[in-house]
Amino acid sequence: MSQNETVERPVNFIRNIINADLDTKLHENVQTRFPPEPNGYLHIGHAKSICLNFGLAEDYKGQCNLRFDDTNPAKEDLEYVESIKRDVSWLGFNWSGDICYSSSYFDQFYNYAVELIKKGLAYVCFLNADETREYRGTLTEPGKDSPYRDTSVEDNLALFEKMKNGEFKEGECVLRAKIDMSSSFMCMRDPALYRIKFAHHHQTGDTWCIYPMYDFAHCISDAIEGISHSLCTLEFQDNRRLYDWVLENLNDFDRPDRPHQYEFSRLNLEYTVMSKRKLHQLVDDGLVEGWDDPRMPTISGMRRRGYTPASIRDFAERIGVSKVDSMTEMGILEAAVRDDLNKVAPRTMAVMDPIKVVIENYPEGEVESIQAPIHPQNEEMGKREIFFSRELYIDRADFMETAPNSKYQRLAIDKEVRLRNAYIIKGERFETDADGNFTTIYCSYDPETLGKKPADGRKVKGVIHFVEATKALPAEFRIYDRLFTVENPAKEDDFEAVINPDSLVVKNGFVEPGMAGSEPEKAYQFEREGYFCRDNKSANQQVYNRTVALRDTWSQQK
Ligand code: ATP
Ligand code: MG
Repeated sequence: MSQNETVERPVNFIRNIINADLDTKLHENVQTRFPPEPNGYLHIGHAKSICLNFGLAEDYKGQCNLRFDDTNPAKEDLEYVESIKRDVSWLGFNWSGDICYSSSYFDQFYNYAVELIKKGLAYVCFLNADETREYRGTLTEPGKDSPYRDTSVEDNLALFEKMKNGEFKEGECVLRAKIDMSSSFMCMRDPALYRIKFAHHHQTGDTWCIYPMYDFAHCISDAIEGISHSLCTLEFQDNRRLYDWVLENLNDFDRPDRPHQYEFSRLNLEYTVMSKRKLHQLVDDGLVEGWDDPRMPTISGMRRRGYTPASIRDFAERIGVSKVDSMTEMGILEAAVRDDLNKVAPRTMAVMDPIKVVIENYPEGEVESIQAPIHPQNEEMGKREIFFSRELYIDRADFMETAPNSKYQRLAIDKEVRLRNAYIIKGERFETDADGNFTTIYCSYDPETLGKKPADGRKVKGVIHFVEATKALPAEFRIYDRLFTVENPAKEDDFEAVINPDSLVVKNGFVEPGMAGSEPEKAYQFEREGYFCRDNKSANQQVYNRTVALRDTWSQQK
């Protein structure tokens, strides 16, 4: 990221809060964190949170931690830890200092739980799951006090120690906060702070058989790390009461400059799903190739598809931050990547549905080299070498026997068209197979039209792309479309039933020989076709993923 330029960013409610906190000197420094749970790969929704947290730290010359919120050993995995680190770095952000793990605070969580017990603010409860539910009450009815609520401090200390020592079975008891069973916020009705889980943890091994709940661990982790502004999504709005309650009741953290939680609306994107549970299901059910399938809204999938870090950061900027829940149009994401790639992607030609063209008046055996611009609007990017000879490929869609009307600007019999970066050709005759499909088109070319208009002033408006046949490289093209056929698949009873059967179409054709050296993930514009990048996984070099078409076809489809 460019360090020296000052970026003017739109003010949002979080910036207003930070500005006020700096003005009143409540905080001297902005310290944020991105706290993923390592139970899946990051998606574009996480990217919003990453850009917000790391972006604020950068803008305010503060710091942002990467913290693995790894308090639930059952669902977590080192594979996810590694993928998350990779994705955050790829997006262009640097976490401050070492990576943090909530699990490295397990001793401290335990001691803080003991402090709450000693203050009479937590107790060990033996109600089973059904009883706990019954005692909790409902949104309209208050809950009832647990019969274990008045256990003495001494007994609770002993019981909690036994929990820690593995003397109770999983589910037999939990440690609960003693708050208010009639609170209008359900999360304040004596929430669980610790539960028993005999599970191996990827960082702490078998040291622990009790694990803290999110609401207890998260605020304390923030406080231990000196986080000033703890940003999370709106579904945690009610839990803010609990966040504050925990910190205000611990001697170490009950100060004005303790962390405060602020909520913003999560990103929902049309035609895809964002919950990790659902993404897991797509992977497990084999409906996509994996977490990094280019149709997935994961960072690794988008990276493989050809999205650039700059385009994702720009997208986050465009959607902004607010407290209003909404559904974001896919068109906004695609416009961001198109705008970036239009500037940086070298131009090249690829024919995805090839049909042979023979230029009958071109000398046999001769191959001509032509210098074509790498980027027509940016001469500095230089030139590339393309070829022309008697045999070429054009796209099947660019030929018709007879032009349907005067607006038709492609090749037809007795009609001229310009081959991009090369000559004007004219359709003369064609051959078909037994089914009537065109197999070869025979053309003539005008040798005086390389890089210039016809001398006699005749107008040739149409331009089509081509590749020279003898040097062209065979290539596979993977054309992706939206993964689901409905705008909000998460709303469906069976979201897998609304998968778009045409979300991947594979085509086989040819690219320019210069693509022999193409790098994986590097963007190219295949002229007239779209932005593509070489697949980063295929053993065969010449496999290209379509990142996005040249124009927005989404809004038209609606
Ligand atoms: P999921 O529902 O997909 O499992 P999560 O919120 O459980 O998501 P975490 O790993 O806990 O996933 O998320 C890490 C951070 O990313 C959290 O601060 C969370 O609020 C944020 N985040 C997750 N999904 C989104 C989203 N769609 N938009 C914005 N922020 C998000
Ligand atoms: Mg979560």
